[in-house]
Amino acid sequence: MVSRRNFISTAGLTTLAGVSGFEPIFAATKDKRPKPSGGGLKLSFVPHELTLKHTFTLANSSRKTTPDVLTRIEFDGMVGYGEASMPPYLGESIDSVSKFLSSLNLAQFKDPFRVEEILSYVDSVLPGNCAAKASVDIALHDLLGKIMGQPWYKIWGFKPETTPNTSFTIGIDTPEVVRQKVAEAAPYKILKVKLGMATDREMVETIRSSTDRPLCVDVNQGWTDKNKALETIHWLKEKGVVFVEQPMPKTAIDDIAWLTEHSPLPIIGDESVQRLPDVIKAKGVYNGINIKLMKCTGMREAHQMLTLAKSLGMKVMIGCMTETSCAISAAAQLSPKCDWADLDGNLLISNDPYSGVQVVDGKITLQDRSGIGLEIVQPVF
Ligand code: MG
Repeated sequence: MVSRRNFISTAGLTTLAGVSGFEPIFAATKDKRPKPSGGGLKLSFVPHELTLKHTFTLANSSRKTTPDVLTRIEFDGMVGYGEASMPPYLGESIDSVSKFLSSLNLAQFKDPFRVEEILSYVDSVLPGNCAAKASVDIALHDLLGKIMGQPWYKIWGFKPETTPNTSFTIGIDTPEVVRQKVAEAAPYKILKVKLGMATDREMVETIRSSTDRPLCVDVNQGWTDKNKALETIHWLKEKGVVFVEQPMPKTAIDDIAWLTEHSPLPIIGDESVQRLPDVIKAKGVYNGINIKLMKCTGMREAHQMLTLAKSLGMKVMIGCMTETSCAISAAAQLSPKCDWADLDGNLLISNDPYSGVQVVDGKITLQDRSGIGLEIVQPVF
């Protein structure tokens, strides 16, 4: 038998509570009903500006800090951690991420396993805001992994022993500082060099005067002439470079496709390839792609991009921004299926509140810890 109280609540008559003089039966009695075992997802966040150990210079910018927002999602007594890192070129800021996260209503979701539903909602709220979206995605994945008691590389079925070496980035700087950075990078088997300035050859020669380790090169769209670019790539091959990332502006599609066709080294797209549909567009233009969680809204889409790129016969690199061990450890879960890893973002900062994936003898080393495998070193929440 349906009681009067239940009939009123299920019939939606509680809207009458707003009518003057009406005493809502539902409001007067609802506190006596048994509470559900758990509420919805509870999202919280805190800004955390990252301090860089060295001033970071690229072909088109230079900075000493990176804005960052740390997130957490709580459900049924368990907590997952996430992060949004905002290098200036992505156009997000602590302000924009805070506004985006404040606008979300994750409390409406009572089951954290409804990942498709939850993350589709997050993606639909506003266009762009990819780092903000990634901070929710990562925290949700961490939470789910903890509930299941498994790390994500295991849930995805990857073998942890197949992780690649990670490169360590050497930014553009004076020869003295470059040599100092190369000395600090002694544990790494492969170095990444930022080029795209008039001093490119000097930069490579300076590194080569200190080490004969393999190099990879990131031009960050800095070259504008395809013939000169090809000439430089031939020279780089002689210098032990293994691939070249984003040699020309992302809009110069025909020039990049020509360069890829003629290049003796693989050409990898980074700024050109942000989200899943970009992987299809990159086929035939690049040999491979650089996946970053902050560009692609997080672990769910990164996993889809990896699967798609591999099915198209493309190389995959898993990259990062300057980030804490949170986003780095999240990205590292995908690394066993990637050809190259560039996951040094946490090693470039001096205020990492977490510890997670480790680099052992140059190789990404995943722990058998659930979720994304974080330990809290310095609580910020
Ligand atoms: Mg890059």
